[in-house]
Amino acid sequence: CGIVGYIGNDQAVPVLLQGLEKLEYRGYDSAGVAVFSEDGLKVVKSKGRLRVLSDLLDGGKALTGTLGIGHTRWATHGAPSDVNSHPQVSEGGRFAVVHNGIIENYLYLKQHLMRRGVQFVSETDTEVVAQMLEYYDKGDILETIEKVISKVEGSYALGIINADHPDCIYAVRKDSPLIIGIGQGENFIASDIPAILSKTREICRLKDNEIAELTRDGVKFYNADGEPVEKEIEHIEWDI
Ligand code: GLU
Repeated sequence: CGIVGYIGNDQAVPVLLQGLEKLEYRGYDSAGVAVFSEDGLKVVKSKGRLRVLSDLLDGGKALTGTLGIGHTRWATHGAPSDVNSHPQVSEGGRFAVVHNGIIENYLYLKQHLMRRGVQFVSETDTEVVAQMLEYYDKGDILETIEKVISKVEGSYALGIINADHPDCIYAVRKDSPLIIGIGQGENFIASDIPAILSKTREICRLKDNEIAELTRDGVKFYNADGEPVEKEIEHIEWDI
């Protein structure tokens, strides 16, 4: 299971596919990407090897855009299938989420939302995060993410994109790995350093429940209360 995210001036899909390939050693049963294209938020995902996804995407030609998140899934909740693959998208289509880890209390949260009329399409624990983001969103995205992570229990590395912020990627983690890669005019998220090492050697490590907000020009970090925090940049010397 792995996560890669890219925001910059290049096409996102080739960068995501290349990064996910580097994370193949972690194992997976499905793969997918979400990209902001000219027509809005688009998702392509499938059960199976990365090759299947890459063919669906025609290596990147089928989905253009310079901001995206990608995922390889190791199913824990819900069998491997196209609909259970990530990214998981909220009912209104405004949030797309990739997740590594397990949301332990997802059934309780899912039932709570279903009683309020939210319709789920997958059997994953992850979908509850996408649905909650949309359900609790009142316009301040950081507040929304903080609210959602205060309600979920378990382990998570999350990459989040939101139609109201088509020039940002959000990342947050607890007890699952996720790093931020700092480039020039481009920034990255990844489960592990090898996924982005050909692109940048400057990385930041997120502490539990710290939130990163990536734009093309930079990355801002916030603690779980939404207060800005300064992070040290680590220079990676080694090669793969
Ligand atoms: N628990 C999530 C699922 O089964 C994420 C699995 C993963 O880490 O890939 O969909």
